[in-house]
Amino acid sequence: MYDSIVIGAGIAGSVVARQLAEKGNRRVLVLEKREHIGGNCYDRQDAYGILVHEYGPHIFHTNMEDVFSWLSAFTQWTLYENGHQVVANVKGRLIPVPFNLNTLHMLYEKEQADELEKKLTDAYGYGSRVPIMKLRENQDAQIREIAQYVYENIFLKYTMKQWGQTPDQISPAVTGRVPVLISYDNRYFQDQYQGVPRDGFTKMFARMLDHPKITVNTGTDATTRLEFGEDQILLDGEAFTGSVIYTGALDELYQCKYGRLPYRSLRFEFQHFAQEDFQDGHSVVNYTVSEDFTRITEFKHLTRQEDANGTTIVKEYPFAYTGAEGEIPYYAILNAKNQALYEKYKKLAQQHKNMYLLGRLAEYQYYNMDAMVKKALVLADTLLSC
Ligand code: FAD
Ligand code: UDP
Repeated sequence: MYDSIVIGAGIAGSVVARQLAEKGNRRVLVLEKREHIGGNCYDRQDAYGILVHEYGPHIFHTNMEDVFSWLSAFTQWTLYENGHQVVANVKGRLIPVPFNLNTLHMLYEKEQADELEKKLTDAYGYGSRVPIMKLRENQDAQIREIAQYVYENIFLKYTMKQWGQTPDQISPAVTGRVPVLISYDNRYFQDQYQGVPRDGFTKMFARMLDHPKITVNTGTDATTRLEFGEDQILLDGEAFTGSVIYTGALDELYQCKYGRLPYRSLRFEFQHFAQEDFQDGHSVVNYTVSEDFTRITEFKHLTRQEDANGTTIVKEYPFAYTGAEGEIPYYAILNAKNQALYEKYKKLAQQHKNMYLLGRLAEYQYYNMDAMVKKALVLADTLLSC
């Protein structure tokens, strides 16, 4: 019946499924345990008619022309003319994040700000991106003072909330995602394309999966249809020799037999207000020195639904994933110990010559959407060339 089975209808699974079906004429079965497609990118209209992102704010951003163009076959875009912009609420004052020269000039008197700007540009060059952990190592006491301000007011508490650890205890690649910008660039991302699918992410995925060669079963945990034996994979009790692409958590596929892979999860608290605006036009405000939640997203500004009546927001409360019913693993915790555990599970998966691991969970990585699309396209090409 099928040439390939894709487990998970998130962005990784949906892209690979479409490419196998369209480019390779393969019959693809997609199994998705949630009741909907789209994985963590899923969006829906709330009770007030506002399109909300069920699993936290998702902004598509990329510099990869091929990725943008491939997705554009399934959606038009609402592109942000001035990029996605974020501010941090620091004791009631809103400052641009990533910290950049605009932020510097807001915090220091002109003369001192000019002097510090010169030091920063001399040290790193105008336009450079300096990870906070690197900035803290600078030899110049004044630069280290700025670094300390940024560390204490932007990174320390937010990171403690998000990861349960301080910035120096986590992988520097994580805080390096939001570097200090030695420029007057207030954009959160520096990518050329930034925005959201015009009709929402879910519609984009629905079009992607709408193909005569693709069958999608939502509400179906793959483990109810598939068995991963020592040397073969069974579908409904019969040997399946086509390719199996797995995008779920790898430890859970093997009943966590070596122990759980650690993840951070989030609790989302949605609120609707019968008022035009909640945070003064800002789509995302990070709470970097106060509160138990990390950030507030106001959807009408994020997705340009300015005409909507009322406004809906979401607050994100991080916690350690335990695997309890209903919890979702969102973020792999990148460190050597966890990577070693992941490698043990990967060895098990490698017993199956026809199984491929793809995605943020299955690869235990911190991928953005565009990286996921790219990896899925490359995997599809590899499979189609065999
Ligand atoms: P997922 O979306 O997790 O999809 C995996 C799917 O597999 C899920 O639907 C799951 O239900 C299913 N599954 C798992 N196990 C099974 C099983 N046994 N049987 C059947 N189905 C199964 N990226 C950006 O580029 N920009 C952003 O602004 C951005 N914001 C983010 C905000 C938050 C709060 C989070 C958590 C992530 C954000 N991301 C963002 C990252 C983005 O969500 C990921 O890159 C992307 O969702 C990864 O896609 P995926 O298909 O690998 O994983
Ligand atoms: N971060 C922070 N303060 C901020 C923004 C980010 O401390 O205002 C740190 C925090 O550790 C976070 C990491 O930088 O987990 C990466 O931020 P990003 O916005 O990329 O996280 P995501 O949107 O993936 O949750």
